[in-house]
Amino acid sequence: MAQRFVVQVHDATRLHFDVRIESGGVLRSWAVPKGPSMDPGVRRLAVQVDDHDLAAGEFEGVHQGRRRGTGAVIIWDEGTADVVRDEPDRLSIVLDGHKLAGRFELVRTGGTQWILVKGADDHARRGSDVAHDQPASVRSGRTWQEVAALEQPTR
Ligand code: MN
Repeated sequence: MAQRFVVQVHDATRLHFDVRIESGGVLRSWAVPKGPSMDPGVRRLAVQVDDHDLAAGEFEGVHQGRRRGTGAVIIWDEGTADVVRDEPDRLSIVLDGHKLAGRFELVRTGGTQWILVKGADDHARRGSDVAHDQPASVRSGRTWQEVAALEQPTR
Protein backbone atom coordinates (compact mmCIF):
# COMPACT_ATOMS: atom_id res chain seq x y z
CA MET A 1 0.00 0.00 0.00
CA ALA A 2 1.32 3.43 -0.92
CA GLN A 3 2.23 5.76 1.92
CA ARG A 4 3.08 9.42 1.75
CA PHE A 5 6.66 10.62 1.67
CA VAL A 6 8.03 14.12 1.94
CA VAL A 7 11.52 15.59 1.72
CA GLN A 8 12.01 19.01 3.28
CA VAL A 9 15.03 21.28 3.10
CA HIS A 10 15.67 22.72 6.56
CA ASP A 11 18.13 25.49 7.31
CA ALA A 12 19.10 24.73 10.89
CA THR A 13 22.56 24.74 12.49
CA ARG A 14 23.53 23.00 9.30
CA LEU A 15 21.45 22.89 6.16
CA HIS A 16 20.00 19.42 5.70
CA PHE A 17 17.24 17.50 4.00
CA ASP A 18 14.60 15.82 6.16
CA VAL A 19 13.46 12.59 4.49
CA ARG A 20 10.15 11.47 6.01
CA ILE A 21 8.19 8.33 5.21
CA GLU A 22 4.71 7.68 6.56
CA SER A 23 4.47 4.54 8.67
CA GLY A 24 1.78 3.63 11.18
CA GLY A 25 0.39 7.14 11.47
CA VAL A 26 3.74 8.88 11.97
CA LEU A 27 6.60 10.02 9.75
CA ARG A 28 9.78 8.00 10.15
CA SER A 29 12.47 10.60 9.64
CA TRP A 30 16.10 10.89 8.64
CA ALA A 31 18.30 13.99 8.36
CA VAL A 32 20.34 13.77 5.16
CA PRO A 33 23.02 16.52 5.05
CA LYS A 34 23.64 16.35 1.30
CA GLY A 35 20.14 15.28 0.29
CA PRO A 36 18.97 12.36 -1.85
CA SER A 37 20.65 11.53 -5.15
CA MET A 38 19.27 9.85 -8.25
CA ASP A 39 22.76 8.45 -8.96
CA PRO A 40 22.98 4.83 -7.72
CA GLY A 41 26.71 5.28 -7.25
CA VAL A 42 26.24 7.98 -4.62
CA ARG A 43 25.82 6.96 -0.97
CA ARG A 44 24.39 9.66 1.26
CA LEU A 45 24.63 9.68 5.04
CA ALA A 46 21.16 9.64 6.64
CA VAL A 47 20.88 10.14 10.40
CA GLN A 48 17.68 8.74 11.85
CA VAL A 49 15.85 11.21 14.07
CA ASP A 50 12.65 10.97 16.12
CA ASP A 51 9.42 10.10 14.37
CA HIS A 52 7.42 13.22 13.52
CA ASP A 53 3.67 13.68 13.38
CA LEU A 54 2.03 13.86 9.98
CA ALA A 55 1.50 17.62 10.26
CA ALA A 56 5.27 18.18 10.33
CA GLY A 57 5.40 16.98 6.74
CA GLU A 58 3.02 19.73 5.63
CA PHE A 59 5.14 22.58 6.97
CA GLU A 60 6.74 25.16 4.73
CA GLY A 61 7.84 28.44 6.27
CA VAL A 62 10.10 29.60 9.05
CA HIS A 63 10.21 27.92 12.44
CA GLN A 64 9.60 30.50 15.12
CA GLY A 65 11.18 30.59 18.51
CA ARG A 66 14.76 29.77 19.33
CA ARG A 67 16.57 29.78 16.04
CA ARG A 68 19.41 27.79 14.66
CA GLY A 69 20.17 28.95 11.16
CA THR A 70 17.25 30.86 9.65
CA GLY A 71 14.80 28.07 10.55
CA ALA A 72 13.48 28.09 6.98
CA VAL A 73 11.81 24.93 5.68
CA ILE A 74 10.58 24.12 2.18
CA ILE A 75 8.80 21.06 0.84
CA TRP A 76 11.47 19.97 -1.62
CA ASP A 77 9.67 16.85 -2.83
CA GLU A 78 6.63 14.77 -1.93
CA GLY A 79 4.57 11.91 -3.27
CA THR A 80 3.91 8.27 -2.54
CA ALA A 81 6.20 5.62 -1.13
CA ASP A 82 5.64 1.90 -1.54
CA VAL A 83 7.48 0.00 1.15
CA VAL A 84 8.78 -3.22 -0.41
CA ARG A 85 11.04 -4.32 2.43
CA ASP A 86 11.01 -3.18 6.05
CA GLU A 87 13.61 -4.75 8.31
CA PRO A 88 15.40 -3.33 11.37
CA ASP A 89 18.50 -2.47 9.35
CA ARG A 90 17.07 -2.04 5.89
CA LEU A 91 14.16 -0.19 4.34
CA SER A 92 13.47 -0.57 0.61
CA ILE A 93 10.99 1.85 -0.90
CA VAL A 94 9.71 2.82 -4.32
CA LEU A 95 9.05 6.54 -4.54
CA ASP A 96 6.79 8.41 -6.91
CA GLY A 97 7.50 12.09 -6.39
CA HIS A 98 8.17 15.14 -8.53
CA LYS A 99 11.96 14.79 -8.33
CA LEU A 100 12.58 11.41 -6.74
CA ALA A 101 11.34 8.27 -8.46
CA GLY A 102 11.96 4.57 -8.37
CA ARG A 103 13.63 2.39 -5.81
CA PHE A 104 15.68 3.69 -2.88
CA GLU A 105 17.45 1.78 -0.14
CA LEU A 106 18.01 2.93 3.42
CA VAL A 107 20.60 0.70 5.11
CA ARG A 108 21.58 1.08 8.77
CA THR A 109 25.32 1.10 9.27
CA GLY A 110 25.22 1.47 13.07
CA GLY A 111 23.21 3.26 15.72
CA THR A 112 21.26 6.10 14.16
CA GLN A 113 23.50 6.16 11.08
CA TRP A 114 22.07 4.94 7.83
CA ILE A 115 23.05 5.22 4.17
CA LEU A 116 20.54 6.40 1.57
CA VAL A 117 21.21 5.18 -1.97
CA LYS A 118 19.25 5.11 -5.20
CA GLY A 119 18.49 1.67 -6.60
CA ALA A 120 19.79 0.91 -10.08
CA ASP A 121 16.56 1.06 -12.08
CA ASP A 122 15.17 2.91 -15.09
CA HIS A 123 14.73 6.08 -13.01
CA ALA A 124 18.41 6.23 -12.01
CA ARG A 125 20.47 9.10 -13.45
CA ARG A 126 24.19 8.53 -13.16
CA GLY A 127 26.25 11.67 -12.70
CA SER A 128 23.22 13.74 -11.67
CA ASP A 129 22.81 15.75 -8.46
CA VAL A 130 19.11 16.54 -8.08
CA ALA A 131 19.58 18.12 -4.65
CA HIS A 132 21.88 20.73 -6.18
CA ASP A 133 20.19 21.13 -9.56
CA GLN A 134 16.55 21.39 -8.40
CA PRO A 135 16.65 23.43 -5.17
CA ALA A 136 13.11 24.84 -5.14
CA SER A 137 9.95 23.81 -3.31
CA VAL A 138 7.53 21.62 -5.26
CA ARG A 139 4.66 23.50 -3.61
CA SER A 140 5.65 27.16 -3.97
CA GLY A 141 8.57 27.17 -6.38
CA ARG A 142 10.63 29.00 -3.76
CA THR A 143 14.08 28.15 -2.50
CA TRP A 144 14.69 28.03 1.24
CA GLN A 145 16.57 31.31 0.95
CA GLU A 146 13.51 32.96 -0.60
CA VAL A 147 11.26 31.58 2.14
CA ALA A 148 13.68 32.83 4.79
CA ALA A 149 13.73 36.31 3.22
CA LEU A 150 9.93 36.49 2.85
CA GLU A 151 9.23 35.51 6.43
CA GLN A 152 11.52 37.76 8.40
CA PRO A 153 10.34 37.64 12.00
CA THR A 154 8.73 40.79 13.32
CA ARG A 155 10.50 42.12 16.37
MN1 MN B 1 15.37 19.13 10.21
